[in-house]
Amino acid sequence: MTDIPPDHPRYLSLMTRHRIVSGVEKGITSQEGLIAQGRGEAFDYLIGEETLPFAYASEYAASAMILLAKRGIISVNGNAAALIPAELVQLSEITGAPLEVNLFYRTEERVLKIIKHLQAHGAGQVLGAQPDASIPGLQSQRSKVCRDGIYSADVVFVPLEDGDRCEALMRMGKQVIAVDLNPLSRTAKQATISIVDNVVRAVPNMVKMVPKLKGKDKGYRHGVMMNFDNKKGLADAMDSISGHLIKID
Ligand code: ATP
Ligand code: MG
Repeated sequence: MTDIPPDHPRYLSLMTRHRIVSGVEKGITSQEGLIAQGRGEAFDYLIGEETLPFAYASEYAASAMILLAKRGIISVNGNAAALIPAELVQLSEITGAPLEVNLFYRTEERVLKIIKHLQAHGAGQVLGAQPDASIPGLQSQRSKVCRDGIYSADVVFVPLEDGDRCEALMRMGKQVIAVDLNPLSRTAKQATISIVDNVVRAVPNMVKMVPKLKGKDKGYRHGVMMNFDNKKGLADAMDSISGHLIKID
């Protein structure tokens, strides 16, 4: 619990910080995760701390892509687990894409803690404890994945990912959906679909979009995915940020 008053103008942002700090205290989020969150917050401020139209479009296309996947997977790191555990479990259930814990700063202890944390939020089986494959081109700790999970997936949803690993997944021929508030990051530039939004908004939005897309036919979902233009989405994100920077209201 926190003593942040609900009428505080920065309530949501402060609650998000609190969740990350408590993730560190519980041993599920790395200390580096605090810094990553800080970088994200700075971009969120410039975006206006809301889901802008280009972000909705990317979330809709991403939802269609996961539903169209032959083998979709949701990669979970310590920040995502601390911020939106229940929503990740829900997204996994409604899309049929399993959860795999995949950490940049991997320790066995942290992987197991995250799996337990997700299970406390309703998850069944979670992959990641016994990696038996590796992503080519990465140093060993950072390359560890499960053969039945990320390694053989055609679509990988990585709520928060490092640019290096995003690139390595793309090189393997996978379609990568990344959530990253920084449209200039290597991750955002490389991913098949880059969602420039806060994960605390993006994943709940997708949880609402998936059932609607499931009600449509496959052709419709395919159209949504094919009509999405990632470069234009990133350009729109940059326009919004620069618009906020030059206009004081
Ligand atoms: P890259 O390796 O892709 O060039 P980076 O090194 O700047 O990016 P990292 O430190 O690897 O980034 O990871 C942090 C990234 O995650 C930042 O780009 C930040 O904007 C983003 N981020 C952090 N918290 C959130 C969040 N809650 N929602 C969305 N994005 C976030
Ligand atoms: Mg990085």
